[in-house]
Amino acid sequence: MPGTLYLCATPIGNLQDITERVKTTLNSVYLIAAEDTRNSLKLLNRFDIHVPLTSYHEYNKYDKAEELLELLLSGKDLALITDAGTPAISDPGEVLVQKCIENGVLVTSLPGACAAVTALTLSGLSTGRFSFEGFLSRENRERKELLEELKKETRTIIIYEAPHHLKKTLSDLYKVLGDRRISICRELTKIHEEIMRTVLSEALKYYEKNDPRGEYVLVIEGRKRSDIQAEKAEKYLEMSIEEHVRAYEEQGLDRKEAMKAAARDRGVQKRDIYNALLRTC
Ligand code: SAM
Repeated sequence: MPGTLYLCATPIGNLQDITERVKTTLNSVYLIAAEDTRNSLKLLNRFDIHVPLTSYHEYNKYDKAEELLELLLSGKDLALITDAGTPAISDPGEVLVQKCIENGVLVTSLPGACAAVTALTLSGLSTGRFSFEGFLSRENRERKELLEELKKETRTIIIYEAPHHLKKTLSDLYKVLGDRRISICRELTKIHEEIMRTVLSEALKYYEKNDPRGEYVLVIEGRKRSDIQAEKAEKYLEMSIEEHVRAYEEQGLDRKEAMKAAARDRGVQKRDIYNALLRTC
């Protein structure tokens, strides 16, 4: 019978955030796969866990996933941990998880710290709907396209960022998204935990004078629905009623539906649209 892969969340700063279940499980498995074995060794020593470690990181994730899968298929239980936080979130974990699922190996997740969720809850921004973006691409074209997509996003946006890229990312976000509210969450759960709740222009000014230090999660307000409505209304009011109705007909709506949609956009009754069209006939 195949073994089980345990995804074990580890603390993102404060070591007291490890769970009893994670400690017990790490002690019970045959092997622990970790992103940075040196870092993880310190964590394991701190909790008196003496189980062999093997490295599983971005640059060996495909080959190593095969090796780990073989062990799992031979009946061994394995654990996956990352440098910090929840495995498979912005780290190579997802490749191994997919391999296991494809090959009928049981995967189970032991929940715990996750930088994105911790930041979101502290942001003071809307938590009802959010879009987790991980690290923004460093590749220019891809990054530009993604930022353009994010401009339309109405959900709260969560981004991971390294300190040396923070200023550039804040500047790119400001250029494309405008002066949105942002909560810059730094060194979460650590002694120097700090949440800066501000707007992008102020954040940029601050980081012109202060060097970014530590780990960051950026939580950015989504686009307001009222702004989308206002922009739409502005666009439609530039059109004549006839052009407006025709635009909807060209999108495939029948005459009645097109008049109804135009009335909604212009904040008037359908009969007003009908009467205006009659006048132009
Ligand atoms: N899998 C982890 C998670 O979500 O729980 C995240 C791994 S990702 C490789 C590392 C990034 O998470 C960092 O660059 C930073 O953006 C964020 N992060 C991790 N720990 C943090 C902390 N204590 N405070 C703020 N951000 C943190």
